[in-house]
Amino acid sequence: MGKIRRIGVLTSGGDAPGMNAAIRAVTRTAIYNQLEVFGIRHGYRGLIERNFKQLKAHSVSDILQRGGTILKTARCEEFKTPEGRKTAYDNLKDFGIDGVVVIGGDGTFTGARIFNEEYDIPFIGIPGTIDNDIYGTDYTIGYDTALNTVVEAVDKIRDTASAHNRLFFIEVMGADAGFIALYSGIANGAEAILIPEIPDQVKNLKKTLEEGFKRKKSSNIIIVAEGEDEGGAFEIAEKVKSDFENYSIRVTVLGHIQRGGSPTASDRVNASRLGYAAVEALLDGQTSVMVGLQHNEIVLVPFRKAIKQHKDVDRNLLEIADILSL
Ligand code: ATP
Repeated sequence: MGKIRRIGVLTSGGDAPGMNAAIRAVTRTAIYNQLEVFGIRHGYRGLIERNFKQLKAHSVSDILQRGGTILKTARCEEFKTPEGRKTAYDNLKDFGIDGVVVIGGDGTFTGARIFNEEYDIPFIGIPGTIDNDIYGTDYTIGYDTALNTVVEAVDKIRDTASAHNRLFFIEVMGADAGFIALYSGIANGAEAILIPEIPDQVKNLKKTLEEGFKRKKSSNIIIVAEGEDEGGAFEIAEKVKSDFENYSIRVTVLGHIQRGGSPTASDRVNASRLGYAAVEALLDGQTSVMVGLQHNEIVLVPFRKAIKQHKDVDRNLLEIADILSL
């Protein structure tokens, strides 16, 4: 592999707060190392459509604190085809781009891994997704911000729930993973937390609610991850409604507020460290790896591992949550 002189950076899949901080870190670390940087807009679609624009140090001014992504993001079916990836490769060659940093989740890394099996332009990944569901890193960019958004929203719902003695079912994001649900559940003192990793929780939920009502709890908050196998918050509420007819039940789906907003300090620092590490990895000749954080140290994890292995939640935390919500 030749010397790296020019790199690309893109964001792909779902957006997450802190992606801009990562773009800034990649751009400025590259420029510091005398590399040229091209921003690729709209994820892999931009690679195929040659949507490239050179980034200078000032191009990434005043974005560190902003949610969303200045490069826009997209889902791109064409990149899943050999023809799409060939066009992407030809475009990268044409622009003289010697390496690419991709910021995204599982799907983004799958695309990068396949591309690197076919072509010799190295791709390095930065984990950016609010779900925190990527194996090989303790944190993904955006998770801390989303979690704090949920905690703030649920605090507000708790106020009104207590005022009316209500039972609230609150649905949070997490299609396959319960990290946001579990951690917000603990941080908000939820009476129960339903996550996709644990099957059959509704039976226990009824018991928990009965006990809570006997103890005259003034409000009950049940956090439901959207990927919960027994249904979303509306379905779960429907399942228990007939057993608790005397109680006023409400359902809130927090939805897309969880994706937006200014990144927390923790997401900004992680994004900055990971962005820096991604460029260092390219300069070191690495390819097909994700930069991650384990025990607060930067690590390199092959895409193959990051994609294949499942990151599990700490199940002890559910037990702690149960005990503390007595
Ligand atoms: P999030 O976790 O936020 O959903 P993600 O990166 O997993 O983010 P996806 O929509 O799954 O989001 O993937 C992003 C893009 O990665 C896809 O639109 C596609 O362009 C590319 N991609 C995903 N899977 C593959 C694949 N098997 N082959 C090639 N490219 C892929």
